[in-house]
Amino acid sequence: MKSKSKVVVVGGGVVGVSALYHLAKKGWSDVVLVERKELTSGSTWHAAGLLPLFNMSYSVGQLHKYAVNLYGSLEEETGKNVGFSRVSNIRLANNKDRMDEYFQYAGVAQTIGVDVKFLTPEQVKEIWPLCNTSDLVGAIQHPEDGYIQPADLTQALATGARNRGAEIYRNTTVVGIKQIKNGWVVETDKGSIECEHVISCSGNFARQTGKMVGIDIPVIPVEHQYIVTEPHPEIQKRKKEGLPEMGVLRDSDSRWYMREEAGGLILGPYEDGAPACYVNGPSKESEYELFQEDLDRLAPHIEGAIHRVPAFGEVGVKKVYNGAICYTPDGNPIVGPAWGLKNFWINEGHSFGITAAGGAGWQLAEWIVDGEPTIDMLGVEPRRYGDYCSKSYLIKKNEEAYSHVFINHFPDEERPAARPLRTAPCYDRMKNLGAVFGQKFGWERPNFFCN
Ligand SMILES: Cc1cc2nc3c(=O)[nH]c(=O)nc-3n(C[C@H](O)[C@H](O)[C@H](O)COP(=O)(O)OP(=O)(O)OC[C@H]3O[C@@H](n4cnc5c(N)ncnc54)[C@H](O)[C@@H]3O)c2cc1C
Repeated sequence: MKSKSKVVVVGGGVVGVSALYHLAKKGWSDVVLVERKELTSGSTWHAAGLLPLFNMSYSVGQLHKYAVNLYGSLEEETGKNVGFSRVSNIRLANNKDRMDEYFQYAGVAQTIGVDVKFLTPEQVKEIWPLCNTSDLVGAIQHPEDGYIQPADLTQALATGARNRGAEIYRNTTVVGIKQIKNGWVVETDKGSIECEHVISCSGNFARQTGKMVGIDIPVIPVEHQYIVTEPHPEIQKRKKEGLPEMGVLRDSDSRWYMREEAGGLILGPYEDGAPACYVNGPSKESEYELFQEDLDRLAPHIEGAIHRVPAFGEVGVKKVYNGAICYTPDGNPIVGPAWGLKNFWINEGHSFGITAAGGAGWQLAEWIVDGEPTIDMLGVEPRRYGDYCSKSYLIKKNEEAYSHVFINHFPDEERPAARPLRTAPCYDRMKNLGAVFGQKFGWERPNFFCN
C-alpha cells in the first residue's frame, strides 16, 4: 500500500469508484481508493439498476444526464460489459395535476438537454401492451433511459481507473482521518496514507466517516424493497418472438417502478412507513446486507401494480430485496467541499446513486483538479445543511423524503415533517397574522400571508 497519494477516496461503492475513475481520467493518476470489504458490498450490489433521467433539480438532472451518456461508452473504453439496457422509461399520469407536473418538468429537461417525449394512453399501450391504460391521462417517455448492472458498472469504472494508474485497496478499513499542515493523514487498519485531498464516499457509513473529521454528515438510510417475480408466459412469449423489452414503467400516482427481469417483472414501490435504518451506522461486519422483507407495508402498491399491469398478479414472487438506501432531508445527495475543512470532499447521501455516480464523480474531479465545478451544483451543495440536522430530525425528514419520491412536486414545495424546528420570537405573532411558513436552514419564515 502507498504511504502517500494526492487523493484518498473512502468507500468502494459505485460512487467512490466513479470519483476515482474521473480523477484518473483528468490526469491525476496518483490517487487511491480504500474499501473495507469488497467493491459494491454496501448498497451498490443490490440496486435495481434503473437510471432515471427524470429529476426536478437542475443540478441532479445534469449529473444523471452525464452519467447515462458515460455508461453507454464504458464497454468500448474498458472492454467490460456493464449490462446497459437502453429500453426507455415511461412515467404515467392518471390525473391532470400529474400531467402539469410533467409539463413543468419538461422545461427543466429542455434546459439541461434531456430528451423527453409526451405520449397518449394509446401510445403507452403500443409500447407496453401488458399495461392497463383505461384510466390514464397521458405519460412522458425518456428514450435514452434504461437500466444497468450496478456491480458490472462499478467494475468497469474500476478498470478504467486502474488503467490510468489509480490503485484500489480492498479489505482495508479507514479507522481515522487527521488534518495536517498540507492535507490529511488517512489511517487504515493496514497503515497510513498521507494525501492532499480526501473524498468521503462511504454510503451508509457517512456519519461515521464525518465523525472522524468532526462534522455531522446528514445522511441516514431508509429501507427500500423491490419484488422479483417468477417468469410470466406472456413476457417469455414476447422474448421468443424477438420483441423488444417493454422498458421501465413508472406509475407515479401509485408510487412504484416496474421493469422486465429474466422473463418476469421487478416491482419497486416507495411506500409510506418505510423506516430509517442503520441510525447508528451499520455493524463492523456489515457486507452484502439485506433486511427482513415486509410485504404488508407494500400491499397498497402491489394492488396498484396489479390494477395497472394485471400480469403482475398472475405470477409468484421469486425474491424480495430489502436494503438500505441513503437519504438526506431533501432527498438530494451531498456533493462538494465539506464546510470548514480544506480539501475534504463529501460525496454522500445518494438515493439514486447508480444513476448519479457518474455525474457526481465528474463534477468532483473538475472541482478538485481545476478548482471549480462546470455545472451549477447548488442543488447538491453540502452547506444547505448545518447543526440543525440532529439525529431525530434526520430520521423524520429522511423517511419523509423517501415517501415523497413519487408525490406530485408542486413548484415551491414545502414539506411538513419535523416542523416547526427553529422559530423566531415573532413566530406566534406572524402565525396569528395569517403567515404561511416555509423552512430555510431549519428556520420557519413566512412565505406569504393568507387571511
Ligand atoms: C433495494 C434498492 C434498490 C435500489 N435501486 C436503485 C436503482 O434502481 N437506481 C439507482 O440509481 N439507485 C438505486 N438504489 C440506490 C443505490 O443502491 C445507492 O444509491 C448506491 O449504491 C450508493 O452507492 P455508494 O457508493 O454511495 O454506497 P455503497 O454502495 O454503500 O458504498 C459505500 C462503501 O463504502 C465502504 N466504506 C464505508 N466506510 C468505510 C471505511 N471506513 N473504510 C473503507 N470503506 C468504507 C463500504 O464498505 C461500502 O462498500 C437502490 C437501493 C436499494 C436499497
